[in-house]
Amino acid sequence: MNIVIMGAPGSGKGTQSAIICKNMNIPHVSTGDLLRKNIADGTELGKQAKSYMDAGKFVPDDLVIALLENRIAEPDCTNGFLLDGFPRNLAQAEVLSKSVKVDVALYLETDLNKIADRMASRRVCPKCGFTTSVDKVPDGKCTVCGAAVIIRDDDKREVVEDRLKVYAEKTAPLIDYYKKQGVLKTVDGMKSIDEVYAEIEAVLK
Ligand code: AMP
Repeated sequence: MNIVIMGAPGSGKGTQSAIICKNMNIPHVSTGDLLRKNIADGTELGKQAKSYMDAGKFVPDDLVIALLENRIAEPDCTNGFLLDGFPRNLAQAEVLSKSVKVDVALYLETDLNKIADRMASRRVCPKCGFTTSVDKVPDGKCTVCGAAVIIRDDDKREVVEDRLKVYAEKTAPLIDYYKKQGVLKTVDGMKSIDEVYAEIEAVLK
């Protein structure tokens, strides 16, 4: 099964994707994670992408599309995968539709007014990638590997507003795009992690 997960930045896409992929045994293909890995590895692509990401802007389509196409051509994607953070605009969705049949587009619906607070409280582990919220790590240490957790540069308040604006303008139209194709499934992303996953599980069955 090929799944696309959609929702505003901070809607819980990454958290839910990790659970879905573990339970369904399919790869979690996150363009944000792939880009951050390129930055950490100091690749040419990473150098080109960094300034856009730090400013909360989209990385140009040609770079992201090439990155995505290479990733889904890998053998572990043969029997399906979950796309997180791609497509992010109609042009990317059109390119994707040429090579991939999207079976389900999962939309995590959230209240945009409350999302900025959620993002400000997000913490990530630079060592193992674990994502959590500040109230769950009072000592500032990753509960998985013990490294000091950090705030992603693009989760800083001044950038969050720009990301939400870009989302509303460029990505939100994809909800209608997949609705028209009859593959959209909407779940309430404002509930707890377990409750959201229970809804997702019901929808995927
Ligand atoms: P994410 O981890 O999905 O929130 O992505 C972090 C950042 O990576 C975004 O704010 C964009 O700058 C960039 N990015 C990730 N996926 C895409 C995409 N499909 N198209 C353009 N930029 C992307």
